[in-house]
Amino acid sequence: MREAGLICVGCGKNFEGTKVFRCPDCDSPLDLVFDGHGIDKSKTCSAERYHKFFPFEPHEIISLGEGNTPLVSVPSLAEKIGVRSFGIKNESVNPTWSFKDRGTSCCVTHANALDFKHIGTVSSGNMAASVAAYGAYAGMKTTILVKENLADEKLAPVVIYGARLFRVSGNYDDVYNKSLEIGKDKGIYFMNSDVPFRAAGSRTISFEIAESFDFDVPEWVIVPTSSGGNIRGIISGFADMKRHGYTNKVPRFICAQAAGCSPIVAAYDKGEMKVKRFPDPDTIAHAIDNAFPPSGNETLALLKKFDGIAIGVSEDAIISAQAEQASKGLFGQPASAVPLAAAYEAKRRGIISENDRVVTILTGSGLKYTAAFSRHKLSWHECHVNDLHESI
Ligand SMILES: *Cc1c(COP(=O)(O)O)cnc(C)c1O
Ligand SMILES: [Zn+2]
Repeated sequence: MREAGLICVGCGKNFEGTKVFRCPDCDSPLDLVFDGHGIDKSKTCSAERYHKFFPFEPHEIISLGEGNTPLVSVPSLAEKIGVRSFGIKNESVNPTWSFKDRGTSCCVTHANALDFKHIGTVSSGNMAASVAAYGAYAGMKTTILVKENLADEKLAPVVIYGARLFRVSGNYDDVYNKSLEIGKDKGIYFMNSDVPFRAAGSRTISFEIAESFDFDVPEWVIVPTSSGGNIRGIISGFADMKRHGYTNKVPRFICAQAAGCSPIVAAYDKGEMKVKRFPDPDTIAHAIDNAFPPSGNETLALLKKFDGIAIGVSEDAIISAQAEQASKGLFGQPASAVPLAAAYEAKRRGIISENDRVVTILTGSGLKYTAAFSRHKLSWHECHVNDLHESI
């Protein structure tokens, strides 16, 4: 591993080395500080193609082939929304069917470089499956901590990889910080939602989008947001590309949330720079239901810095956006339909203009949450083989 540092996004404190997960002074998340850059155009695998932006040597990279996902242009949606172009970055084609694999690859590579033999995460969904898969591939002991009320059907897709899973009762909010404490004591690398290398791993989403546009980046990138780790990574990826002269501007960003759990939008709308716990969260978009996001304040600061906005969308808008995306051949889970719903809303409010190019992130596969099928009116036909000819 090459030399790198971390900086606290809250108080600006610099840390030498990279073995810290959160600022011990002000409890803010940390950002990776590394000045390298370069694109290895002979490689398609994202971890290899962009490895110069990260402090890892190519032979250190632990990858299941994540990234290099398609950016699908959907002209019919561009026309309906009333924008110049509309692209969907389809992260559901990653090894465990969500963008989380990018950050997990980055964290597992980092953990391995630091000689950790045991990794873990606190998650109820996609991060749990992702860490379990990469832990299995890397041959590391893997511990997953989930909420006590998590349905059995969500546990099997994690445990199948061989990870140890604990359903934890008590105050789930405490588990994030507690895990970091336990990790320090027991030598476990807990790669939670917004730890520095998890957020940094999302930078490759930006690099790929910039390359898809031949470095003439789109006007808007819309990201469904929960903890804020992903949007932080995406924004810093674009900022990095501009800093190193690959592009001459940074897109504007929309932090898209479900109105039923929208702590960042609530603060943004009031012009506040600190998120408050969102009372009684309730949304079908389970992947983005963090009521008190650990990178919420930093997301607000980045929106301010890059002239971004935050938008909440209703449950009905989410369901209909999920159906509409599927009707174009792209089936994301409810959280992944939130950006399309936010695009309509931003256009309606006159924030996005008709000359703008818009990219949304389809963060995870629709098959991750089949319970959402019951919210759609889906029907099919029954028919005897002898009647098929007349019936079709
Ligand atoms: C994790 C996740 C998100 C939210 O990402 P954050 O980094 O927590 O903001 C959005 N969509 C899906 C499908 C996810 O799994
Ligand atoms: Zn700090």
